[in-house]
Amino acid sequence: MKLDILAFGAHPDDVELGCAGTILKEISLGKTVGIVDLTRGELGTRGSAEIRDQEANAAAKILGVLVRENLEMRDGFFVNDENHQLEVIKMIRKYRPEIVLCNAIDDRHIDHAKGSKLVSDACFLSGLRKVETSVDGESQEAWRPKLVYHYMQWKNLVPDFVVDITGFTDKKIESIIAYRSQFYDANSKEPESPITSRNFFESLNYRSQDFGRLVGVDHAEGFTVERYLAVNSLGDLI
Ligand SMILES: [Zn+2]
Repeated sequence: MKLDILAFGAHPDDVELGCAGTILKEISLGKTVGIVDLTRGELGTRGSAEIRDQEANAAAKILGVLVRENLEMRDGFFVNDENHQLEVIKMIRKYRPEIVLCNAIDDRHIDHAKGSKLVSDACFLSGLRKVETSVDGESQEAWRPKLVYHYMQWKNLVPDFVVDITGFTDKKIESIIAYRSQFYDANSKEPESPITSRNFFESLNYRSQDFGRLVGVDHAEGFTVERYLAVNSLGDLI
């Protein structure tokens, strides 16, 4: 199956937190989207890997993505080396996306920057014919996504561009609430973490409102890029 967009996250919920609005919008425009989680988030303060799996599947249904896979790398301890790169390359060659979305280039959780670089490096290597991979005994063809965009999570990074997600924020929040073991729940008996506070939860909306305000729309999500963005015409910009 070929996809237009493949979104990677170090942990299940990274994609929802970073770019669910953009994914919902692209799907509404007819694009095909899939998600690949690098780990099962087994070190998360609340819940368990099994609960996270169920939550991730529920969130995928809300978003309307066609596939969601998990590479089962070690939460907290995966590294950006050949073995891990090859696992990511297999996913890129399997789904042949034009656009890859991946973690923030810099963030509080160390897996985010690691996952960001791992996926970005794999996107490059995936385009080299002599990097050989095979799945179920079948060798895969080289494929390099045209564009790699990094979403943002905890830290307030300066975006290189923003996507208008007005009209998609309710569904975005719904996809995040699917991770009910992780986020704000006044009745939870489990330990607190930085993402379990009401403040964190509300910050999701006020950040998208703030990016939106700056470009004259209600809500927007920000992304960074590793190379210049090009447009065919100045009229392409809103
Ligand atoms: Zn994360």
